[in-house]
Amino acid sequence: MITVPDIIIAVDGWSSTGKSTFAKLVAKHFGFLYLDSGAMYRGVTLYSLENGLIRDGIIDTEALKASIGELDLHFERPGDGSTCLFSGTRNIEKEIRTMEVSSFVSPVSAIPFVRCWVDERLHKFSENGRVIMDGRDIGTTVFPDAELKIFMTASDEVRAQRRYDELVQKGDTATMEDVMKNLKERDYIDSHRETSPLRRAEDAYELDNSDMTLHEELVWIQGLMQGKFGILG
Ligand code: C5P
Repeated sequence: MITVPDIIIAVDGWSSTGKSTFAKLVAKHFGFLYLDSGAMYRGVTLYSLENGLIRDGIIDTEALKASIGELDLHFERPGDGSTCLFSGTRNIEKEIRTMEVSSFVSPVSAIPFVRCWVDERLHKFSENGRVIMDGRDIGTTVFPDAELKIFMTASDEVRAQRRYDELVQKGDTATMEDVMKNLKERDYIDSHRETSPLRRAEDAYELDNSDMTLHEELVWIQGLMQGKFGILG
């Protein structure tokens, strides 16, 4: 019997560099499980907003610490190939992607006990098989021994345009200015926080996709998958 090795692919990078689009494509193409760590931080942020734990822009850290244990965040696959974040029995995939959640997610995810809580769950979700996970600290903190690490970048303009298009498609009324401001704020907080700041792991391959099509990104990873693991796809 052929044994299939567990492989973790860590995809980190700046906000809106297309990490999740890329990771989903790789997952589908090579039969990996896709896990979106940012969705978990967004889930904690939505919970905080809905339960009055963020008031006048201030996070009630003590109250969040006391109640985070009751939060049941997990991923479900409805069968159409997508992965959705659930809080208990409620699909919150749409609610976690609003500008309101985006405005608070970076300060919430900078709280050390929130990071611990999310990391524990990410480890549990990836216990078996081949996993591709995207985020900010996957290759540096969550899975420092990941078999393959990728660090994604793109120009500010390309990133803002992508995020804006995504929001408009979902009916959000954010302006391009709001989007650019939010991207820059998140990049700053994510890369300057004390716990697990966003940075490129030394052994990560950099992918700047400013001028690349998704197909070109796939061709790029196909080369790496073949070279590193002998996996053809
Ligand atoms: O990936 P996404 O943009 O949805 O992530 C939302 C936010 O969650 C990021 O801006 C960052 O503040 C936080 N995050 C994090 N560590 C991760 C993934 C996301 O701090 N591994």
